[in-house]
Amino acid sequence: MAKEHYEIRDRRFEQLIHVNADVEILWSEGRWTEGPAYLPAARYLIWSDIPNDRLMRWDEASGIVSVFEQGCRNQNGHTVDRMGRLISCEHRTRAVTRREFDGTRTVLADRFEGKPLNSPNDVVEASDGSIWFTDPTYGIDSDYEGDAAASEIGGSFVYRIDPDGTLERVITDMVQPNGLAFSPDERILYVSDTGRTHNPDCKPVIRAYPVLNSCSRVGSGSDLAECEEGLFDGFRVDTNGNIWSSAGDGVHCFAPDGTLIGKIYMPRVVANVCFGGPKRNRLFICATNMLLSVFVNARGCGL
Ligand code: MG
Repeated sequence: MAKEHYEIRDRRFEQLIHVNADVEILWSEGRWTEGPAYLPAARYLIWSDIPNDRLMRWDEASGIVSVFEQGCRNQNGHTVDRMGRLISCEHRTRAVTRREFDGTRTVLADRFEGKPLNSPNDVVEASDGSIWFTDPTYGIDSDYEGDAAASEIGGSFVYRIDPDGTLERVITDMVQPNGLAFSPDERILYVSDTGRTHNPDCKPVIRAYPVLNSCSRVGSGSDLAECEEGLFDGFRVDTNGNIWSSAGDGVHCFAPDGTLIGKIYMPRVVANVCFGGPKRNRLFICATNMLLSVFVNARGCGL
């Protein structure tokens, strides 16, 4: 029964789901799936299967899943920019890249002040064309999701690539910044910290940072929500500002005030989610080896 997928903690969540909408397993042959992104013009979803070093594609019209790119430099998070181009975080090259219209690959960032980045993890674009990404160490910690290497850059930070290509460091007070997304008005940048993987004292939280100076830097952040099961990895925001986050037992939904209003249970640990479909009301979920989806009564904000 579809109802069993949902846990309603707050009446607000009832308005955001269809209790009879089932959770569908679209694919289950991955090793660790991540970084879903929906490309509206082509009507397909792309996602990473990081340890298998491949990008996968689910075609919305046919339902067929196929390998999009084998040997993808251990890509992790993705987003689609305002032009419809795929922006990718690559572990092995320790870079953020863009796939151009002719298929060529452009490196947008791979070092800061002369030192290589760790392993860009997740990425989002602001409406001014700046690209914001997190840079924890998961892609260089071992050979499982990239190539093992020492971190040279002095920590795990959040960066912004200005439209003119300048790279700036914007957040330095997190242990392992991971997922990130803006509020609908772009006045808040939300970032999750999965630092508990490296430091047992690190709280598994989503932090909220006020965006200042026309999207050029952020003020001091504060904890918005703490994860009660597992860790928050990737997440997305809907047009009303609700946050739909990955967690250990499924998708957790938070009101803009940080209240956990409900959950959608998943059969595996969830790493990331995105909204897709022509109405952007279908939530796609990367959960360990699986890609799943569920229709919700909310629309994703941005791409
Ligand atoms: Mg991530």
